[in-house]
Amino acid sequence: MVLFEDVSKVYEDGTRAVDHLNLEIAKGELVVLIGPSGCGKTTTLKMVNRLEDCTEGTIKVGGQDITKTDPVKLRRNIGYVIQETALMPHLSVAENIATVPRLLGWKKSKIRKRVDELLEMAGLDPAIYRYRLPDQLSGGQKQRIGVLRALAADPEVVLMDEPFGALDPIAREKLQNELIQLQKTVKKTIIFVTHDMDEALKIADKIVLMRRGKIEQVGSPEDLQQNP
Ligand code: ADP
Ligand code: ADP
Repeated sequence: MVLFEDVSKVYEDGTRAVDHLNLEIAKGELVVLIGPSGCGKTTTLKMVNRLEDCTEGTIKVGGQDITKTDPVKLRRNIGYVIQETALMPHLSVAENIATVPRLLGWKKSKIRKRVDELLEMAGLDPAIYRYRLPDQLSGGQKQRIGVLRALAADPEVVLMDEPFGALDPIAREKLQNELIQLQKTVKKTIIFVTHDMDEALKIADKIVLMRRGKIEQVGSPEDLQQNP
């Protein structure tokens, strides 16, 4: 589903953030990128939705070279969640979740149904939460809505950059468990960045250890626990 072929990123100041990276991510796989700060995790993620463009190599999503796809269209097919997900403060929870479906011109009735389905999936009663504004939510709930927004139009790929990093341990664990549950049913292709090995071991199908822009090791959580 996502293929990195000899991908490098050199920033304008000469920093080589990603260095000849090769990686294949299968459909429905949750891959965690982990490694020390500055090893190139965020840059790798941002190249997939073209918030940064790679300077060498090719990235394919669903077999399609992403440089040949309109970035706006590409981003509608790739959900994105960051550490402090910024919900639109003046829009309700439902309107925030509906952002991409609206851009795609879905019918109102279809959007309403989808929003309620997502809220229920996340254990939030739609009758209560639909009309709430972001500042009437806890941190955990805001992040949960950020995840639902990213999933709303059923994108092929979801990118998550330390999505639970700003949460307290209890909210964090709750959302990790919800993500695991979600993966049992919807099976999204997810690239998830963290620096927390416990989190990686808990949620990943495959863990990619990065160091200085390169992949140092790839394995399942079981592999990495046996040969740390
Ligand atoms: P990580 O997510 O693993 O912390 P990043 O991908 O953010 O790593 O950064 C990788 C390297 O690229 C670091 O050395 C960082 O300082 C550098 N870098 C990130 N963004 C930029 C930028 N816009 N311009 C120059 N260098 C950058
Ligand atoms: P979490 O389960 O994410 O840790 P909290 O314990 O922080 O949630 O929040 C408890 C409840 O209080 C939640 O249902 C949340 O929606 C509600 N809440 C938090 N802030 C407000 C607010 N400003 N107005 C109304 N309800 C709020």
